[in-house]
Amino acid sequence: VSTYRVAVLGARGVGKSAIVRQFLYNEFSEVCVPTTARRLYLPAVVMNGHVHDLQILDFPPISTFPVNTLQEWADACCRGLRSVHAYILVYDICCFDSFEYVKTIRQQILETRVIGTSETPIIIVGNKRDLQRGRVIPRWNVSHLVRKTWKCGYVECSAKYNWHILLLFSELLKGGACA
Ligand code: GDP
Repeated sequence: VSTYRVAVLGARGVGKSAIVRQFLYNEFSEVCVPTTARRLYLPAVVMNGHVHDLQILDFPPISTFPVNTLQEWADACCRGLRSVHAYILVYDICCFDSFEYVKTIRQQILETRVIGTSETPIIIVGNKRDLQRGRVIPRWNVSHLVRKTWKCGYVECSAKYNWHILLLFSELLKGGACA
């Protein structure tokens, strides 16, 4: 059994904690409790027929720290970021700024190479799919940019209704290439 470390990053309120909690505990809350410190979940999960020891790191948004770059931020809040096996970058399909935030984080990951290798998979997640009417970012545009240009996996999900949450983690454990 190998340990697989996953960092979940994104702007405030996009549903990072909700995704993790839905995946692990099948629960969802409308209450927004801001993540102010790194949270570590250590589930053993059976996915795709294999047992995995997962370490899921749920991070607060960078803006809550008085630092500018991901490198400084990583040093400040978690040295372990250097050795994660995958990144989940979450945005809210109803919030334009949250996608801009994902772009910034991705750029900083690539520039600072916090994790030491550019091979580490990044999966981009558009959450709150249930709020389809409030969507501000067309699915096709993002999915094209993410898959074709960034060469990252892309999943749209709803932590509220448990849509595609399992898909997200199973694709992640397959190596990050989402259909
Ligand atoms: P975080 O700051 O990124 O960890 O965000 P939270 O997980 O705390 O979620 C922020 C707010 O968005 C909470 O009020 C959640 O109930 C809500 N939320 C999270 N995921 C969804 C979703 O898929 N659909 C809807 N409608 N609301 C969601």
